[in-house]
Amino acid sequence: MPVALVTGASRGIGAAIAEALARDGFDVAVGYGSDVAGAERTVAAVSAHGRAAVALKADVSDEVEAGALVDAAEAQLGPLDAVVLNAGITRDGLFLRMSADDWRAVIDTNLSGAFYVSRAAVRGMMRRRGGSIVAVSSVVGLIGNPGQANYAAAKAGMIGMVKSLAKEVGARGIRVNAVAPGYIATDMTAGLSDEQRTQVQAGTPLGRLGTPEDVSGVVAFLCSADAAFITGSVIRVDGGLGI
Ligand code: NAP
Repeated sequence: MPVALVTGASRGIGAAIAEALARDGFDVAVGYGSDVAGAERTVAAVSAHGRAAVALKADVSDEVEAGALVDAAEAQLGPLDAVVLNAGITRDGLFLRMSADDWRAVIDTNLSGAFYVSRAAVRGMMRRRGGSIVAVSSVVGLIGNPGQANYAAAKAGMIGMVKSLAKEVGARGIRVNAVAPGYIATDMTAGLSDEQRTQVQAGTPLGRLGTPEDVSGVVAFLCSADAAFITGSVIRVDGGLGI
């Protein structure tokens, strides 16, 4: 059975990705930071598709914990065929008022966390000459957003990392891609005011926020044999916001 690790899979987009991969036949390691109840719900959702699942706690911004996460996933489920770099946070603020702590927290989790997890996973993929890595970036990393300089920098950085790694490991049969979601209805966007929500919808040609399932199907596609000739790509899943 193919095996996947999804970071940040206790809720939101990551939970939907874990379930989509289970539907496609993957056993899934469900990475989470602190929401153990959420992670257990995702494990149950994966199990309902008849696939094996395990919840694994790790702070991806910690190099040692990120490495241990990959080791534990492989020890419990087997060699990783797919890794989804989804764990992420926001700490919004206008540029001039942004604290160095808020800058670092977002870079450390979203960008360095993606580096630590994928570096740990790619070693085995190189030996086995195959695998798929998908980074959950953001349309904000492509077009910027006032109040999110830290987040946009991290998400743009993930895209640079994905393209560079794709060039390094393509000859070994490893594909590395990114998705760039627009506004998706999860805990992360739950704090938008009605006015902000109206603005987002007005700026989105498809006229609505996305759902976690809008993103998870695209990630599952990128992990599938149907995407066998796709690497270094960034697929916007944003209802047209980034056009
Ligand atoms: P969410 O509902 O806030 O979930 C975030 C997930 O990341 C949780 O599972 C959380 O785990 C995990 N996480 C956070 N910090 C972590 C850390 N240091 N170590 C390990 N896990 C950590 O967010 P979401 O909306 O589903 O977002 C998922 C990804 O999509 C993020 O990378 C986000 O930037 C990206 N994205 C979201 C949107 C959007 O509009 N929602 C748009 C574009 C891109 P615990 O809760 O267990 O701590």
